[in-house]
Amino acid sequence: MITVGILALQGDFDRHQQKMATLSVKSRLVRTAVQLAQCDGLIIPGGESTTLINLLKKHTMWDSVRRFGKTKPVYGTCAGCILIADSIVEMDQDSLHLIDISVQRNAYGRQVDSFIDDVKVQLNGTLDSMEGVFIRAPKIVSIGANVTPLAWHNDDIILAEQANILAGTFHPELTDDVRIHHYFLRKIQKSMY
Ligand code: GLN
Repeated sequence: MITVGILALQGDFDRHQQKMATLSVKSRLVRTAVQLAQCDGLIIPGGESTTLINLLKKHTMWDSVRRFGKTKPVYGTCAGCILIADSIVEMDQDSLHLIDISVQRNAYGRQVDSFIDDVKVQLNGTLDSMEGVFIRAPKIVSIGANVTPLAWHNDDIILAEQANILAGTFHPELTDDVRIHHYFLRKIQKSMY
């Protein structure tokens, strides 16, 4: 039985926990390094990346989360995606460098800072549609050679993976769709056997 950790220092962690319950998977809210060590994978939710950085450092979890991501699956959504990226463009903002992507914060601007639109996903070879919820979302502006894109909004990559790490700019926890969470769970299962 796997245990999925959900970082619960700030932001949209409840909805991820509900999603795990829908999928009949055990999850635990993570607020300390000790709790993190009891998990097989970690979801870093949306919220405000600068606040999350400050809280992770205040709770002395910054290094533990980075170390965790070196060996176990981590899925960062929105602010979580910003946190695990290798670099943030046009900003001097710290990150965990877990996936070789560059992101731009609040990339859709004030006019359309939140929206819902059709997106395309390719999780297991076939291209499918999905509803994408974007809330003051970042954009993935470049990916490294070892990163695989898995979903797109128009021409923009909105979900990408590198080994155990999954980074997405949108919020699948806010729709009834379970496909992305299910994909992350499979990643955790594969990492264990
Ligand atoms: N705009 C936020 C940031 O830059 C992310 C928004 C979100 O997580 N929904 O951190």
